[in-house]
Amino acid sequence: MNISESKRLFAHAQNFIPGGVNSPVRAFRAVGGDPIFIKRADGAFIFDENDNGYIELINSWGPMILGHNHHLIREAVIDAMDSGTSFGAPTAKEIEIAELIVSMVPSVEKVRMVNSGTEATMSAIRVARGYTGRDKFIKMEGHYHGHGDSFLISAGSGAITMGNPDSPGVTKGTAKDTLLAPYNSLEAIEKLVDANKGEIAALILEPVPGNMGLVTPMPGYLEGLREICTREGIVLIFDEVMTGFRLAPGGAQELFGVTPDMTTLGKIIGGGMPVGAYGGKKEIMEHVSPAGPVYQAGTLSGNPIAMAAGLAMLHHLNDHRELYGELLTIGRKIAEGIMKINLELGYNYTVNHLGSMYSLFFSNDPVVDFESAKKSDTVLFGKYFQAMLKRGIYLAPSQFESLFLSTALRDDLITQILQAHRESMIEIHSA
Ligand SMILES: *Cc1c(COP(=O)(O)O)cnc(C)c1O
Repeated sequence: MNISESKRLFAHAQNFIPGGVNSPVRAFRAVGGDPIFIKRADGAFIFDENDNGYIELINSWGPMILGHNHHLIREAVIDAMDSGTSFGAPTAKEIEIAELIVSMVPSVEKVRMVNSGTEATMSAIRVARGYTGRDKFIKMEGHYHGHGDSFLISAGSGAITMGNPDSPGVTKGTAKDTLLAPYNSLEAIEKLVDANKGEIAALILEPVPGNMGLVTPMPGYLEGLREICTREGIVLIFDEVMTGFRLAPGGAQELFGVTPDMTTLGKIIGGGMPVGAYGGKKEIMEHVSPAGPVYQAGTLSGNPIAMAAGLAMLHHLNDHRELYGELLTIGRKIAEGIMKINLELGYNYTVNHLGSMYSLFFSNDPVVDFESAKKSDTVLFGKYFQAMLKRGIYLAPSQFESLFLSTALRDDLITQILQAHRESMIEIHSA
């Protein structure tokens, strides 16, 4: 495969952009080699600068649940462009998307639009602190909530991959108010709550974490967190930037039937445009400025082009709920296909799967939290990544990511993915 243009561009990019990329996980440092530069994308495929096509299993880290360049979103954006790109004043579309989000996501009674998942989580924590008058909050080891200072304490995703969970530039003062707990342990939460009685404003987590690879909640875990938070007056925040509109129209909270006090959203909500949102109970959201005293603002928040893309995406998902059954079928075919091939070849690696998300961990032990995720053989993952890429399959360039499937994955493409998987497994174990 000729990737000469990507190599040339990456070398050039490093003169002007730190590490040559605008977000660290794109740099392939965890898997070796140079990143592929993308020229265009369509349906289930992305194409690099040498016009090689790859079957997509990341889908822009989640947003492109309908595949790339979907005509409904493209048409909505082009249509909105005719009326101007930004007004910095309220629009009717913002009410429409807010109403739609409130109707789809069980916990959300009022919602504020922002420009990224990072903004959503930073703002949600500030509101929870303002609402409770408390400073501390609990986060889970290996969960990622964007790059806000107070979250860069055992953060997942790029931060794990870079071997740098505690970033320089985050002060000790900030870090001391972030309490850490392992995922899937209610006992650990009870201990933290006991040791910090009346001081914890919020507990934030990915209800189904995807930023240490995909891990699913143990039966009763989310319900248990709900009970503890209600008892202790702690604001329970589900960070559904990844799982929102993906695991169900109403996200993981709908799938598991557990309603948090606040929810953060991103990725799919913008249909590929830079959008995030946070929302929750009325009495909490009434604390947000200008209704209440907690300040949060944004020049481009609710941008008309971004709202048009998001509305097209959410309306389509809301009106075609059968898509979630189709996504589950696609996810099953791939995840179960991978497990079957692994067993045939004599490997017993862990595959975690839920709906249209899955991770293959190069570990024989169950992966239920950050400690168990870290046992994976990341060197072997790097070889697997390269072997799949060579065969035209584009995976997330890190062991500690979930893969995101789209409705564009037809059966013939699934067959290709599984064939590439079989060949890659044989190749990486024979070297
Ligand atoms: C991607 C992600 C974020 C950050 O969103 P950005 O738009 O990249 O700032 C926050 N939380 C979770 C769970 C995410 O997956």
